[in-house]
Amino acid sequence: MRLRFIIAIDGPAGAGKSTVARRLAARLGYRFLDTGALYRTVTLAALRAGLDPDDEERVAALAESVSVVLEPGDDGVRALLDGEDVSSEIRGSAVTTAVSTVAALPRVRAAMIPLQRAIAAERGVVAEGRDIGTVVFPDADVKFYLDADPAVRAGRRAAERGDADVQQVEAEIVARDRQDSGRAVAPLRAAEDAVRLDTTDLSIDDVVERLVAAVEG
Ligand code: C5P
Repeated sequence: MRLRFIIAIDGPAGAGKSTVARRLAARLGYRFLDTGALYRTVTLAALRAGLDPDDEERVAALAESVSVVLEPGDDGVRALLDGEDVSSEIRGSAVTTAVSTVAALPRVRAAMIPLQRAIAAERGVVAEGRDIGTVVFPDADVKFYLDADPAVRAGRRAAERGDADVQQVEAEIVARDRQDSGRAVAPLRAAEDAVRLDTTDLSIDDVVERLVAAVEG
């Protein structure tokens, strides 16, 4: 039997995955793995290098050559690109706009898989992303798929960013959902054995309690 425990949380932007995964990891003493931070860091590297986010050949070669490291940080995760802390920059609008294009490139995804599996080899993890229960950890011990109404998801993201323009945020996350769900490799979707939860009308505390109950049950 495998001793380390893997909990997979997938779903679209603003469904509550990061906050809930971080809290669940703290509760269980596991590591929190924010896989979106990996794709965001590669995207930043590509933008800095002046590459077209669609240029699979060059972006993938870069993804295979740079060092992308995730470390536990004060508010979840610290992302290091060739040793430089890029945690804030990867949340900016330039990266957010380009990340789904980079994340759709099959060679980039292939380069990210061993990084994610290596982290989970060290200790128990709560990993969140888009393809965790379907592709990265298909044998995860417990899988969740969180979703919520797009307007509510946009409201949460806008509040996090101190961004007043909720409608613009909604348009951005709907566009990203479409790209993430429509790509050929590892599209966003719930694993067949995932526990689905609609968080539209739930508080973060409610969601955490339901996940803890499902893990412990
Ligand atoms: O979760 P976050 O919003 O930081 O993810 C940013 C983007 O990274 C997603 O919109 C998606 O394109 C990509 N991603 C992915 N697979 C994952 C995690 C994130 O394709 N497991």
